[in-house]
Amino acid sequence: MSAGLHLKNVTKHFGSVRAVNNINLDISEGEFVTLLGPSGCGKTTTLRLIAGLEKGDSGAIYMDDTPISLMDQGIFVPPEKRGMGMVFQSYAVWPHMTVAGNVGFPLKLRGIRGAERQRRVGEVLRLVGLEGLEERGATQLSGGQQQRVALARAIVHDPEILLLDEPLSNLDAKLRGEMRLELRALQRRLKITTVFVTHDQEEAMALSDRIVVMNRGYIEQDAPPAEIYERPATRFAMDFMGSINHVKAVVSAVDSSGAAFAIEGANSQERVLVATPPNGITPGQAVTLSLRPEDVLVLEANSERTRSHWDGVVETTAYLGNRVDYLVRIGDQVVRGVGSSTRRFDEGTRVLVKIEPVVVQVWDGNDPTDEMYEDNLTVDGRGNT
Ligand code: ATP
Repeated sequence: MSAGLHLKNVTKHFGSVRAVNNINLDISEGEFVTLLGPSGCGKTTTLRLIAGLEKGDSGAIYMDDTPISLMDQGIFVPPEKRGMGMVFQSYAVWPHMTVAGNVGFPLKLRGIRGAERQRRVGEVLRLVGLEGLEERGATQLSGGQQQRVALARAIVHDPEILLLDEPLSNLDAKLRGEMRLELRALQRRLKITTVFVTHDQEEAMALSDRIVVMNRGYIEQDAPPAEIYERPATRFAMDFMGSINHVKAVVSAVDSSGAAFAIEGANSQERVLVATPPNGITPGQAVTLSLRPEDVLVLEANSERTRSHWDGVVETTAYLGNRVDYLVRIGDQVVRGVGSSTRRFDEGTRVLVKIEPVVVQVWDGNDPTDEMYEDNLTVDGRGNT
């Protein structure tokens, strides 16, 4: 059985640092939700508040309708009574125990013994692909196997919620990729509500039903992976979800079909169109256009001109087999783009850069999150205010 999880206005300080700042989060039964963000953004603290390993300053946490932390009323269910399974970054297997000893430990704590314990350990080891390794010493396992033991131990007592804090980060890249798929398959099979913490956006995209992008204790965006990638709500979310170009531009026209922008320092005839510009922009306004390198196509200079293009000169090329990455100078700015590996351009070549209007994000001078942070900066002493 799996439970939903609800965080209402949860805040936690460490001294003057507001590690978690008034967070609201609703996770449905069986959902896989990832907290994603840079080091220090508050994701581990959020997970530890859910686990009951930290007490918040204010706010409330519920499992389904049952309160597990009502900070203002002093209600706090201790971690062992919350019935959650946890895996942390370090393998955290007990080296002096066998695999069966490690995995069976949560059952032992709950008074399950003998044949029943053996049966359940065997069953969960089969689930994580460690069938038959019951009597192996925990240290005689590879990193990937140890991580599977930690996972088996976290799910053996049928927890209603599974909490995972960077559980794959000790593994090499290939194994991490494999374990990622296994973890997702296992979570789907068990339909267990899962909260996963990582700073790796690719991992978050691959695993999650929903990603919660965190920054400085706040939630920047809470949405399915494709939505965050394609329609980031803030500049931070966009930057964090992969590499990005930011180009300074000026609004040159706005009509019902979208808006046109002139690029600073480029030929004034050149325009880039944006299909869905933000409301309220006006001609002459300075903005930043953000677009992903894979959406900037580098073509021959005499290619057919569309309504959205720039003339540029290749500054740097990197041949990657299936494509070529370019840095292209446009006016006094440099943009990262891609081209086909069948038609390569050398440094110094004049090229045409094409952009699909729908892929460009427009930010005016003020990022909406800047205002939100002023308060926090004052409190933790990192700002100049
Ligand atoms: P990482 O990926 O590095 O683990 P994180 O996003 O999980 O980072 P947290 O560990 O939640 O971030 O930390 C959030 C903020 O709270 C940071 O500024 C951190 O220094 C601070 N912090 C976390 N735990 C403590 C603690 N026990 N005592 C004091 N400050 C803490």
